[in-house]
Amino acid sequence: MYDIGKYREATTVEEALRYLGDDLDSIAIAAGSDVLIKIREGKLSGASLVSIIKIEELKKVTIDGEGDIHIGPVVSFTQLEEDAIIKEHINYLGQAGGTMGGPQLRNIATIGGNVCNGVTSADSGSTLVCLNAQLVLTSEGGQRMVPIQEFYLGPGKVDLKPGELLTDIIIRKEDYAGYEGKYTKFAQRKSMDIATIGCAVMIKKSGNKIEDLRLGYGVASPTPVRCPKTEAFAKGLELTKENARAIGEKALEDVSPRDSWRGSKAYREQLIKVLAERAIIDIAEVGGE
Ligand SMILES: Cc1cc2nc3c(=O)[nH]c(=O)nc-3n(C[C@H](O)[C@H](O)[C@H](O)COP(=O)(O)OP(=O)(O)OC[C@H]3O[C@@H](n4cnc5c(N)ncnc54)[C@H](O)[C@@H]3O)c2cc1C
Repeated sequence: MYDIGKYREATTVEEALRYLGDDLDSIAIAAGSDVLIKIREGKLSGASLVSIIKIEELKKVTIDGEGDIHIGPVVSFTQLEEDAIIKEHINYLGQAGGTMGGPQLRNIATIGGNVCNGVTSADSGSTLVCLNAQLVLTSEGGQRMVPIQEFYLGPGKVDLKPGELLTDIIIRKEDYAGYEGKYTKFAQRKSMDIATIGCAVMIKKSGNKIEDLRLGYGVASPTPVRCPKTEAFAKGLELTKENARAIGEKALEDVSPRDSWRGSKAYREQLIKVLAERAIIDIAEVGGE
């Protein structure tokens, strides 16, 4: 039984903003794979919902004249994985989405819901922080753009104000062009499981050297995080197995994993080192996804 207050369905962004603006306690619902569970568990009981799942303008991936990629927040993970623009330029983001839940979930669950849910285990989170995703937040009063790292405020907490809707996820050309990447999800089983650790690596090579490394994790800190000390350390290093190992070791300085029933802190620290090391070696030897 779902205890839902008002339920309204929008077919345009304008209409959704009007509904959200009318009742500042209402929240957006896309596929509902997080929202409905929270309502059933009583964490959001009585919530008024504004459905955005039928807003066609939010279900597209496009590339603009500058080469910046725009991902509509209502794009599902199946759509993301199969999209031609994503495949050509940032296949590793589609691949990260392909590790979510199972096929039924990926057919409905949206990237915007994954971002706005704000949990550290979100499988798109570590790759989006590496890509420096810019989030466009729109309300009846106007628009603001927030870098995803600043959007995450704490576990399950994001910088989304009453009446606001995430309307665009922008990946700037300078943040993907020339990079190869890989996302590794380590979980207790191959599907239908939340990550024990998620690790995203992006590398821009110059010959056999690392010109730029971007390293991000999920479940290694309260929110998805980048690793600034490790990234600075990696600049200019040769792409060797020894350096891949040293980069993995260094990553421990940037994260703060914890004990949980899915894995101990020590186990997570081991994963943090090894997943980065292996991904760097894979990218060096065979290229990214
Ligand atoms: C069985 C199961 C397995 C799962 N497995 C995984 C997994 O492996 N990996 C993983 O990362 N997640 C997993 N999830 C969690 C969930 O499916 C994802 O977080 C999904 O991407 C949420 O998308 P949604 O469209 O269902 O969001 P919803 O539930 O509709 O919304 C989630 C939150 O985002 C807000 N929101 C949604 N869209 C917008 C918007 N455009 N603007 C403002 N706010 C918005 C809602 O108000 C709500 O707070 C799983 C869930 C289930 C039920």
